[in-house]
Amino acid sequence: MPSLAARDHAVLWHPYTQMQTAPLPIPIVRGEGSWLFADDGTAYLDGISSWWVNLHGHAHPRIAARVAQQLQTLEHVLFAGFTHPPAVELAEGLLEILPPNQRRIFYSDNGSTAVEVALKMALQYHHNRARPRRTIVAFRDSYHGDTFGAMAVSSRGAFTAPFAPLLFDVAFIDVPVPGREAEALTQLEAVAAQGDVAAFIFEPLLLGTAGMITYLAEVLDQLIACCHRHGILAIADEVMTGFGRTGRLFACDYLTEQPDMVCLSKGLTGGTMALGVTSCAGAVYEAFLSDDKLKTFFHGHSYTANPVACAAGLASLELLRELACAAHLARIGAAHQAFEQEITGQPGVRAVRRLGTVLAVEFEEPATTSYFSSLRDELYQLALQRRVILRPLGNIIYLMPPYCTTDAELTLLYDTVRAMRELVCRRGALQAPVVV
Ligand SMILES: *Cc1c(COP(=O)(O)O)cnc(C)c1O
Repeated sequence: MPSLAARDHAVLWHPYTQMQTAPLPIPIVRGEGSWLFADDGTAYLDGISSWWVNLHGHAHPRIAARVAQQLQTLEHVLFAGFTHPPAVELAEGLLEILPPNQRRIFYSDNGSTAVEVALKMALQYHHNRARPRRTIVAFRDSYHGDTFGAMAVSSRGAFTAPFAPLLFDVAFIDVPVPGREAEALTQLEAVAAQGDVAAFIFEPLLLGTAGMITYLAEVLDQLIACCHRHGILAIADEVMTGFGRTGRLFACDYLTEQPDMVCLSKGLTGGTMALGVTSCAGAVYEAFLSDDKLKTFFHGHSYTANPVACAAGLASLELLRELACAAHLARIGAAHQAFEQEITGQPGVRAVRRLGTVLAVEFEEPATTSYFSSLRDELYQLALQRRVILRPLGNIIYLMPPYCTTDAELTLLYDTVRAMRELVCRRGALQAPVVV
């Protein structure tokens, strides 16, 4: 019998993977806490929460029990004309913790669809009010997903190049990183003044895929205030930042202003299964209420509000609201802070960024570095050799551990980053011009 990896290689096509050159995938058969176990018994420490989704650890018994029970009770029912307890309870639970102006929950399947729903809702909101607008504003370096609408509002680059002619026009503004706040504000004011902007979509305080780029709540407050002066809907894409990642339940909890819509996914089910949510403020919802059937929001997916996924969401929400979870967030935040102090300014380190449970270290670039660089592959392999899963974004390494990650496990992650820094320094020395 060929190995699982070989069988995989014969029939599968993996995401973000050049299948011709990629090494065989690592077969994982079991997960527990922050660990993933391969079929040969090797244990890997999951330092990135399996692509940012896992909150409470792998195969969490309480989420598993709830999901098992739901599967034996009601696995699915169409969500037009019907409802069920998990969908209602999860919506009630989310509205309790979301920004207080949020009034309605619309379910979909993942982060990209949560973004598609938000964009369509925003455009139809203006359409229904007989004042159609067609411009969407987004941050130049943002990432909002891989479907067409989500791609259109995301950073344009190598990933989107083959589709560029088909992506709708978006007004991109600069990310207001510290020291460059004025540019973003001026750019938003200028495009808003034209009167055609339907919505501004943003990753609040932390741009993930761009390299864990951080910016301050005060400037986002100013951007949202500008939107509201101009009747522009503010869409907070909390797909990655939601559910405690930033140290608070939502990144928007750091704000004074409130977004008109919020997109959620990833941690929504604790990382158990796919589910998306778009929440909206009352005014957005009310623009769709009418005797006129044409004002209906004609959008839905076969698995909208799947009961099993909603049950996982309920179990995860319960864990998230326990004191133990808040303690974990504080503990990981404090450990990250101490490590930030240690590594900042060391040779090979260009910048360190930190927000809540997320820590990013940007290394000096030896020469040209991008997502495709060999430094990235070397850093990735270094981590794997140490049985640690970390996926560098080019020359940027970030830690985003599940909240159950212990202090000893955090030390393993920090040790790996220390080793990476040494590799960067050795590599830099090798490539330094030879002085005779
Ligand atoms: C991951 C991500 C998405 C897309 O979510 P998928 O579930 O992968 O489609 C959208 N927005 C942000 C900010 C993300 O990090």
